[in-house]
This record gives sequence, C-alpha cells and structure tokens, in this order.
Amino acid sequence: MRAAVLHEIGQDKLEVLDDVEAVGFGPGKVRLRIRATGLCHSDVSAMSGVLPQPAPFIPGHEGAGEVIDVGDGVSGLSAGDRVLVCWLPACGTCPACKRGQTQLCLAGFMNAGTPNFKRPGGDVFGFAGTGTFTEEVVVGAGCAVPIPDDVPFEIAALIGCGVTTGLGAAINTAQVEAGSSVAVIGCGGVGISTVQGARVRGAAQIVAVDPVASRREAALRFGATEAVSPDEFADARQRITAGEGFDYVFEVVGKSATARTAYENTRRGGTLCIVGAGALDDNFQVNMFELFFDEKRILPSMYGGGDVLRSYERAIALWRAGRIDLASMITHRVRLDGINDALDQMRTGESLRTCVEL
Ligand SMILES: [Zn+2]
Ligand SMILES: [Zn+2]
Repeated sequence: MRAAVLHEIGQDKLEVLDDVEAVGFGPGKVRLRIRATGLCHSDVSAMSGVLPQPAPFIPGHEGAGEVIDVGDGVSGLSAGDRVLVCWLPACGTCPACKRGQTQLCLAGFMNAGTPNFKRPGGDVFGFAGTGTFTEEVVVGAGCAVPIPDDVPFEIAALIGCGVTTGLGAAINTAQVEAGSSVAVIGCGGVGISTVQGARVRGAAQIVAVDPVASRREAALRFGATEAVSPDEFADARQRITAGEGFDYVFEVVGKSATARTAYENTRRGGTLCIVGAGALDDNFQVNMFELFFDEKRILPSMYGGGDVLRSYERAIALWRAGRIDLASMITHRVRLDGINDALDQMRTGESLRTCVEL
C-alpha cells in the first residue's frame, strides 16, 4: 500500500512509496483504512528532530477512517465503523486514567517504540505510535474512537489532535473567564482552536499574535478581536490592558523565547498557558523572585489538558451547534502525492490545516 515515509530525522521531504505494509495486527488491535488526515505542526517537529521519534517513520497522527478488521478480544468496534485516530489512547487502569486525566496516560507511548509498518528494506515506525500518512494502519483498539455519522472524516481528523489541543487549553486548562482579556501567541491550527475556545468561554478581548499576515487575517475570522504581529504586541498590551498584561496568554509555538514573551505579557496573578510542543533541550527560565512575587500561574496543557474522549465529544457538540467553525480551518487539500508541497506551506505559515485525502 501507499504511504509517505521519512527516511532519516532531519530530512525535510517525505517519499511516497507503494511497498509499505501495516503490521502487528492481532488480539486487541484494529486495522484501519485512513480516509483523511490533517497535517499538524508536530509532524514537522518530529521530522526535524525537535520531538523525539525513531526513524524511518511515517508521520501523521491526526486521522480518521474506517475499521477494516478487528482482532480478538476487541469489543465495541466492528468492520465498517467510522472512527478517528486517537494518538494518546487511555489504558483506563493507570493512576492518571483513574483520576480522569487520560491525557497523561503513558500506555500509548509504550507502543511508540514498536514499528507498526514494514517495507522490503526493513521496519518503519509510525509517528507517536500511529502514522496516518498511509492508506492503512494497525493500532490498538483504544486508538480507534467511533464518531457519529454526521461528522465528516476531515472534521474528525482535526478533532484527533489540533482542535482538541487548542480548545482544551482554553476550556479545560486555563478555564478562561467570561469578560477576560486573552492573547494567543502562534495562530496555526492549534492557535486558531485556542482562539475559538476563548471565544466560546466568553473572553471580551482576544488578541492573536503571529508574524504571518494570512494567519492574523484568519484569526480575526475565527473570533480574535484583534490580530497583531509580534512587534505590535507590546502596543496592543498597552492599549487593551493599560499596560497591566493579559488575564490569559497562550503560548502555541513551543519555544522558550515565545514562552518568555507570553510570561512577561501575562498580568500579575494571571495565567500563562503553555500549549506548544517544544524540544527537550530548550529551557524556559523564570527567576525565583518574579515567580513568587508576580504570582503568575504557569499552566501547561497537554492534548487539551483533560479527559481525551470527553474533549472529543465536546468538540463535536460545539461544532454541531455551530459554536465553533472547523470546516474553514481546512485551507488546503492534497492527495498523498502532494504531501511535500503541503509541508512547505505549513513551514511558511501559508496553511492553517491541510487535509490529506486518501
Ligand atoms: Zn492509563
Ligand atoms: Zn498534533
């Protein structure tokens, strides 16, 4: 079958090959036919080595499709079911799952070191234990989450990562208060979802900060009340908060430099929410005096910062009610052959979300 493979970490192009096989089917597993997959910035970060990932590997972790086959012992799923791919499946029994914090369950990561594809040349890994830039993938049953019939595959794919991450940061983690002031630094697909989450929560001002003009324009369409370049951020803070700083600042880039900017633009007693996925060797610095004296709350948000399945359900409910716009987040569509162009568009900030149709 066809799949897009990265041969070595650090390369920036994928090779679309037709000699790839999805392996590992058996008890507790399901075989999926992927129909749509979004391109998430984490795919690019794994390719460049910012996020740890063994290679060769098939990127993609934001996907949806149909169940083709179900292994022994799998209940609640059968062939033909429409599902989205959850790259962080909950085991249901670990302490994190028992507390309802399934976004912190590590069970899924245990599989990430096991190759789930192979080629005549050898084993191929899937990104984060999934790998959706492919026609078929075998995953644990917990990675296949049934979706209602009215949710198109392309919308379900977005909910599988970016939308859940961004919405959850505003709703679960920061719990943005009605009438508050919010700034969102970084307005790709996740940042736009954070903007939408802040709007759903009733924020009075939502300032989108991004160096790319097309993303700033997009942020305004999705509910930002103002959109500025990083150079204009200090001025916006002065005008909107009288210099005090924002009630909430979301860092959706994944870099210590932007996290520091976010920290400095959070008001005393306000909330800095870290949403971006960053590197192991990039350290965020805060001095001990400002940490206690300014009482800014630093709240990291991993995959929406709450029970993952509940976050999916909420995203679907908000989308169905017309309270969030997911269809307009898909700014580009490609077939698998166009994947490298799509990666370039993501790197330049031209696309919010590219939907890869398979
Ligand atoms: Zn667990
Ligand atoms: Zn993602």
